[in-house]
Amino acid sequence: MGFENFGTVSFTTEAKTGDFVDYLEQGKVMTTKCMACGGYYFPPKMDCPSCFDSEIEWVEIKDAGKLVTYTVVHYGPAGFEDDAPYVLAVGEFEGGGLKIFGRLSKDIEGSDIKSGMGLRVVPSKLPGDRIAYEFIKA
Ligand SMILES: [Zn+2]
Repeated sequence: MGFENFGTVSFTTEAKTGDFVDYLEQGKVMTTKCMACGGYYFPPKMDCPSCFDSEIEWVEIKDAGKLVTYTVVHYGPAGFEDDAPYVLAVGEFEGGGLKIFGRLSKDIEGSDIKSGMGLRVVPSKLPGDRIAYEFIKA
């Protein structure tokens, strides 16, 4: 599978990192780690942006991280109009070596959202058999 069913709006159907979507379907949020220099990247990249090596391994992001910053979106862009309001956030994982941009789960109360709070990144099912990932409370 490629990226046809990823996210609310797909911007691409094929990518070298298509396995990312298969892993989401299996309940795992995975990313890539460069075997040459040890760098983690998200979204996953099959060629290391630091050392340009292509020896990459997939690793699961299962440990809790923390919320770095966030913003509440009141007017969604095309394709996201009906989702607003929602919260976009940056989470920090793997001891700070991996920053992930994504949405906070709507299950988190607005008054509970605080920078530094514990987060996990998990797959999230969207309407129409689509899939993405989101942050939940750790
Ligand atoms: Zn590298």
